[in-house]
Amino acid sequence: MIDNDRHLWDLILTHLRQHQARICRQWFDDLKPLGIAAGSLQLGTSSNVHRDYLRRSCAQQFSEAAQTVSGRLLTIKFLGPQDDVLLPEPPKRKPQAVVRGATDTLKQQRVMVPERSVRPLENVEASIRPIDIPTVRVESRQESSREVVRDRGLIINPDYAFESFVQGPGNRLAHAAALAVGSQPGTAYNPLFIHGGVGLGKTHLLQAICLRIHEAKPDANIYYTSCDGFITHFMDAVQAGQMSDFRHRFRDLDVLVIDDIHFLAKRERTQEEFFHTFNSLHQLHKQIVLSSDAPPEEIPDLEERLVSRFKSGLVAKMETPDYETRAAIVKTKGKLRGLELSNEVAEYIASRIDTNIRELEGAIVNIQMRALVERVPINLELARASLGDNIPETNAEPSMQAIITIVSDFYRVRPAEVLSKRRERSVTLPRQVCMYLSRKHTRHSLEEIGLSIGGRDHTTVMHAIRIIETKISTQPEFSSVVQSLVEKIKPSRLP
Ligand code: ADP
Ligand code: MG
Repeated sequence: MIDNDRHLWDLILTHLRQHQARICRQWFDDLKPLGIAAGSLQLGTSSNVHRDYLRRSCAQQFSEAAQTVSGRLLTIKFLGPQDDVLLPEPPKRKPQAVVRGATDTLKQQRVMVPERSVRPLENVEASIRPIDIPTVRVESRQESSREVVRDRGLIINPDYAFESFVQGPGNRLAHAAALAVGSQPGTAYNPLFIHGGVGLGKTHLLQAICLRIHEAKPDANIYYTSCDGFITHFMDAVQAGQMSDFRHRFRDLDVLVIDDIHFLAKRERTQEEFFHTFNSLHQLHKQIVLSSDAPPEEIPDLEERLVSRFKSGLVAKMETPDYETRAAIVKTKGKLRGLELSNEVAEYIASRIDTNIRELEGAIVNIQMRALVERVPINLELARASLGDNIPETNAEPSMQAIITIVSDFYRVRPAEVLSKRRERSVTLPRQVCMYLSRKHTRHSLEEIGLSIGGRDHTTVMHAIRIIETKISTQPEFSSVVQSLVEKIKPSRLP
């Protein structure tokens, strides 16, 4: 590698961090420029997982940055640790002659960097265009014979490692089980069945298992796919009359990981085939990991024999993370993006977004973009502004105490009754109104509101808010009552 290439790469990386912050990760710093050949800057990655992720998710942005920075029609080619590096072509030869030449010619043009091995021709020609079909995610060295299986697999996201998974009360069991399976596939829990709502980290844990097994045993034949991928693969095999090939490939796996298995619902033929795949892998002590939005017995129209197979290992439920876990997730996600978020900012984001973990990441990206555009450091003020929260710092929102007092007063009940567990309508309505107003007019999270109003959990608070919203939209009289309460709780009106 010539110094020029290093310099060029530094410029490209700076450009990406400035203009493509959304895709940038801290680990981009570890990418190594390996020289320019055949119109491509070759970048070395630390693993095939990183390589495949970049090829799939970032190729276009990298090449655009390369072209902008260099002013040439330069593309970027991502190489894994075992991929060959092309030597820069001698000045008088055409680049195509190097790449498309016979293998013998090609070999003369290659250089082996330490720990890299000779790979077949097609690797050298691998395009850096975004790959449209899902390709291999965790690659084993003998994979060329497993083309069909790997073409249906999903890409593993290097961010979804155990190291970046935050453990909390809602995911403790699933996390511990996933760790055990990652370190001892086929022996710890088989199958491992993880279920829970959207965005709670199921996919993250599944991929973490794949990554951990791949690190320890790079040759393990791991297949990670979505349920949809499995179904499509099966249907294609049926149509092409290649069922024996399909069976052979699946039953040859060491680890089978299927995300969102609940999509098997109503798929009778696929269920039948999956049942046999499951049994043959299980009998050979090959690891099976499944995720679903519901426990096995609640997946609609799932054959009883599959339900019992799914329950025969460990079934672990994932629940909504609490406030502390969310704040820790924000910090972890920030770090992956190279941001050191203060506790204050992380806690603020965690308190604003408490229903969907996926939105936490969206919030971090928003804040990061705003900081870049406005060229200011990330602090609480910026976080507030970018989350559309313009409440000034000083005493601008009512306290929950004030809300409870005003609402109790209006409904002629005692605050203690609102805070109690009593369920008569005379107190449930004011209690729900308190929850609604607290959510809309303070920065407290659902959990904090639930805790302050009678020690209830966040789902009760969400339910209360929904009820009040429905009433507001369907009952004009009730709507004006709430409006008058809103006026009363405004800080300027408070004593
Ligand atoms: P699911 O598959 O359950 O719908 P995902 O695994 O896709 O959810 O998670 C959504 C996002 O939230 C991902 O970016 C994931 O990394 C993140 N996430 C969820 N739970 C955690 C956690 N405990 N620690 C770190 N990140 C998490
Ligand atoms: Mg998922």
